[in-house]
Formats: sequence, C-alpha cells, structure tokens
Amino acid sequence: MLIFRKPLEGIERPQMPADVVIVGGGPAGMACALRLAQLIDAHNAAHPANQLSKENIYVLEKAREIGQHCLSGALLDPRAIRELLPDFEKDAPLDAKVEKEAVYFLTEKSKFKFPVTPPFLRDHGNYVISLNRFVKWLGSKVEATGITVFTGFAGAELLFDGGRVTGVRTDDKGVDKEGHQKSNFEPGYDLNAKVVILAEGPRGSLTKQLISKFDLAKNANPQTYGVGVKELWEVPAGRIAAGEVIYTMGWPLTFREYGGAWIYGSKGDGSNNVVSLGFVTGLDYADPRLDPQRVLQEFKRHPFVAKLLEGGKMIRYGAKSMPYGGWWAIPPVAGDGWMILGDSAGFLNSARLKGIHLAIKSGMLAAETAFEVLIKDDSSAATLGEFQKKVEASWIKEELWKVRNLHQGFEHGMYAGMFHTALQMITGGRGVRNRYPAKAGYENMRKLTELPANGGAEAHLLGPAKGDGKLTFDKLTDLYHSGTKHEEDQPAHLVIHDTDICNTRCVKEFGSPCQNFCPANVYEMVDDASQPNGKRISLNPSNCVHCKTCDIADPYQIITWLPPEGGGGPNYDGM
Ligand SMILES: Cc1cc2nc3c(=O)[nH]c(=O)nc-3n(C[C@H](O)[C@H](O)[C@H](O)COP(=O)(O)OP(=O)(O)OC[C@H]3O[C@@H](n4cnc5c(N)ncnc54)[C@H](O)[C@@H]3O)c2cc1C
Ligand code: SF4
Repeated sequence: MLIFRKPLEGIERPQMPADVVIVGGGPAGMACALRLAQLIDAHNAAHPANQLSKENIYVLEKAREIGQHCLSGALLDPRAIRELLPDFEKDAPLDAKVEKEAVYFLTEKSKFKFPVTPPFLRDHGNYVISLNRFVKWLGSKVEATGITVFTGFAGAELLFDGGRVTGVRTDDKGVDKEGHQKSNFEPGYDLNAKVVILAEGPRGSLTKQLISKFDLAKNANPQTYGVGVKELWEVPAGRIAAGEVIYTMGWPLTFREYGGAWIYGSKGDGSNNVVSLGFVTGLDYADPRLDPQRVLQEFKRHPFVAKLLEGGKMIRYGAKSMPYGGWWAIPPVAGDGWMILGDSAGFLNSARLKGIHLAIKSGMLAAETAFEVLIKDDSSAATLGEFQKKVEASWIKEELWKVRNLHQGFEHGMYAGMFHTALQMITGGRGVRNRYPAKAGYENMRKLTELPANGGAEAHLLGPAKGDGKLTFDKLTDLYHSGTKHEEDQPAHLVIHDTDICNTRCVKEFGSPCQNFCPANVYEMVDDASQPNGKRISLNPSNCVHCKTCDIADPYQIITWLPPEGGGGPNYDGM
C-alpha cells in the first residue's frame, strides 16, 4: 500500500521566532535576501543608534547545497543583476557573452533560417550562464552578509492565524516509509515570522497551499506551463562557439503542440565546447501518450542537431517546468504576512524564454517592502501591499504587458498562434482583445478513444524513447545523469489523493499518462490481478527530479507534489 508524506501530528515542535523567512533559494529568493541585507547595512550605517538585525532573517532551501536544484537554459538578461550588483561582471560566473543568434524552423529533414531574428529572441548583450553556478555565487554573497541559508530544509506547510500567514513549518526528518518515526527522527521547526516570502519556483507547494486557501487565482487566468527537458553535452571544439545561441521551432512537434528548443554554446576546457540543449514542451498537448523526454530525443535525431552533437558526450540531464501564462495568470502577490516572487508568482516572459531577470527584480522589490516592514514593525496587508504596487510600477509589468496574450494566442495551434503573435506585436501586446482567456493545460488532454490508435501525425512523440546510447537515451539512462538521490525510507512525496482513479479510470481513459509525462520514471503501472484492469499504480519517488510536471499535467488533478525530506533531489551541477 502506498503511504504518502504529511507532517506528523501530535508532536512537540521547536518554535523559532523570525523576522523574515524566504522559502526557496533560487535567483528570486537569493536576490531578495541580498537586497534586504544591503538595505539593512545602509540603514545601520546611517543610524548608529537604531540598528536593525539580520540575525532573524532566514532562507530555506530544500537542496543539500545552494543551487543544486536550479536548472535553466540559461541566458541571463543582465538588467536586474546590474541593478542589484553594479559590478557583477567582475566576479559572477558568466560563461560567455552572446555574439551570434539564429532562429530556425525545422521540418523532419530540413531547416529554414528566419531571415531576421524576431525582436524578442535577440540576445546580444546577454550572457550564457549555468544557473546552478550563478545561484551558488549569489548565495555565497548572501551568506557573507550574515543572513542564514538553511540548506536541506524544505518549507513543508504554511502556518496561519485566521486570514494571516504567521510562519512556515519545515520538513520532518527521519520518518520511515510507513510514516513512523525512525531513531534519527527530528521534527520540523515552526518558524514564526513577521513576513513569509515564497520564492519556490514554478508550481510552489506552499504557494499552491496559499493560493487555494485564499482563492487567490479567482480573477486570474489559469496558470499554464511548459516542461523543459535538458541535456548538457561536451562536443569537439569548433562545433559551436561559446556565446552562440540557436532557437528552433517545428519538428519534432507538429502544428498542434506548443514548444521549441534551445541550443546554447558555452566554454569547455579548450579541446571541447559545452552545449546546453533542451526542448520545452507546452503542457497543454492533447495526446496523453506524448512523452516530453522522447520529444528531446527525437529533436536530437534531426540531421542539423545530430551533426552538431556527433562525437560528443552527454554529461548531465534534468527537467523542470516553467510558468507560461503571462501577466493575466499572475495572482495577487502580497497579503497579510506574505509575498510571492519569481516563477512562483508567474513572472516569466515566455516569448523570450526568460525569467531569471524578472525573478531577481521581483526579489529586490519584495526586499524593499520587507525592509519597510522591519522599519515600521508592521507586516499588515497594507504595508505588504506596497510590493504589488512596486511590481505594477516597475519594468516587470512593462515587459510582461507587451506579451500578455502571447501563449493564449497559441491555444488553437501554431498557425493561429503565429497570426495572433504578429497582431500582438503591432498592437503592443493587445491583439484582438485586451485580455485573451485561457484554460488550464490539462483540460486539453483527450481520451484515447478520441485519438487515432496509431498516434497519427504524433506517432513519433508517443511512448518511451528507446535510445541508441550515443545520441539518444532512454529515460533511465538520462535520469542517471541527473545525479538524483533521496533517502529511500520515507513516505512517498507524490501524494495521489485517490489511487482508485489511477487503477480504474485513468488506465482505461487516458492510458496512465503519468508514465509518459514524468521525465524520471517515477510512475509505473504494475501488473496486479486483483485490480479490475489488471494494473495498479506504483511509485519510485526516489527518482523524482522535482520538475512538478505531474502536479500540473495530471488530467484528474489528483496529484500533489510535496517536498520530500530536505536534501533529497537532483544534483544539477553546471545546469
Ligand atoms: C528549461 C528551462 C530553461 C530556461 N531558460 C531560461 C533562460 O535561458 N533565461 C532565463 O532568464 N530564464 C530561463 N528559464 C526560466 C528561469 O530559470 C526561471 O524563471 C528562474 O529560475 C526563476 O527563479 P526562481 O527563483 O523564481 O525559481 P527557481 O529557480 O525555481 O528556484 C526556486 C528554489 O526554491 C527551492 N524550493 C522550492 N520549493 C521549496 C520549498 N518548499 N522549501 C525550500 N526550498 C524550496 C528550489 O529547490 C529552488 O532552489 C528557464 C526555465 C526552464 C525550466
Ligand atoms: S514525479 Fe512529478 S515532479 Fe517528480 S520527476 Fe516525475 S513528473 Fe517531475
């Protein structure tokens, strides 16, 4: 029987007072902590008699080390980091400056280069980075200010007092598969905070709890997502220059799916170049048999990509979701005792495939608001509401407003999407109306009876990739390269609210799409003669790379991703 993770009840937990707790040490959370430290230092220098302390400001990060769960493309638009650290170029880990970019439309065997790079994909002035290394660097600056970063600690639950967020409970450690305390049991802490800042990245688990408790998304479009499946390769020197950027549209997707690929050239050791490549598949496709990890494998088989990778070696793998919904899908970002930042709020420009700069900027604005809280000793909704106003008055809104309807324009396929994009570009993002509606991606998934049995035009994207072991890989081989590790003896952190639906309905109606959309082979339908369809859901939670796709794409919405015991997860060195 599957036992799912939940905070233990009826135990005494250590209580810890805190001024500010930031949940998530990615670019948003770290930028927030660093800006807050800068403001406090400036205040203390100017007011020797009225000092503020940084002692009770904490960042919680579920990864064992700073940056280990951070995966991105990544190209850095330096706008925000330049505001935060004007001299960042001196010591930030920047791999290369973008010198050359190109956009291609791929068919199965050919490629067509766009004569002009669309304005939103022009990357001159941006940097190729590894987000993992960049966040490590940013995190070291935070630690140097005296702010404590608790690595290996996940925010497991929000604490409330009526309509107010009053703190965060961290994960219980040392709980076995059956939910019993082991000899190394340590209860999670209750961090009772004036302000809780959620910077958990896409589909944050505490953010989800908050949005649902206060029905925050009621006036927003449903958030929509893509999942990016990424591999890092070493290729012989000369194949691609460090700082060369390639985007592709089209193959292997058909005109019905939304998505595309990136290829970024980075530095190697002289004899080789490192290439970051990946494919983002919109999580609003129709065929439940589609497998985003397979989409990446098919993409690599295209002659253009295969030639680039020939003789090279895949060195890392990972996957992560990203919020596509744009401005209209952003819920209120501040309230009584709380603020939401970065991808957790939905600050991502999907036209540019960029969110790092928006995450950093939102962290900086939240820090300015948190500083006011500390100065006034007032964390009411009125004081924290200033964050909402700051976002709306900043370049975050200016940038996202221009692409506010972009993804919705593609809801009826690529041709309609291209028409709407062109119209939106000449009307400042408006298109045919100011606010295009949207529906949640999982609502587009069709039942097997409504789809061609042989897969039709999508046949090459369906089911698991076999892999040739050189250019293409099956999921387990890829997964091995993600360095994922968890404590094995713990309850499953993928909470399925009704496994009967998996065993009776989903297996027949959708063919158990969790087996396909999960890029880490966590979900398996195993033989079980006692079940009506002869199959039962089984989980391999230790494989989970924390991409959140299952929480997003499950057609019945019965899966909740909760943080596993802190410290477990992928090891995204260099990603
Ligand atoms: C495949 C892909 C390619 C991308 N390419 C680019 C690009 O080229 N350029 C660009 O600008 N943007 C890119 N983005 C987007 C960019 O990576 C994100 O917008 C950015 O990382 C968001 O930062 P964040 O701090 O909000 O979240 P994240 O980077 O996701 O960081 C969140 C952190 O919070 C931690 N965390 C989560 N939940 C908890 C919890 N409950 N308790 C404790 N810790 C928790 C996580 O472990 C993680 O360290 C890409 C995204 C993807 C997925
Ligand atoms: S179990 Fe869910 S979150 Fe974990 S890797 Fe699979 S799809 Fe991603």
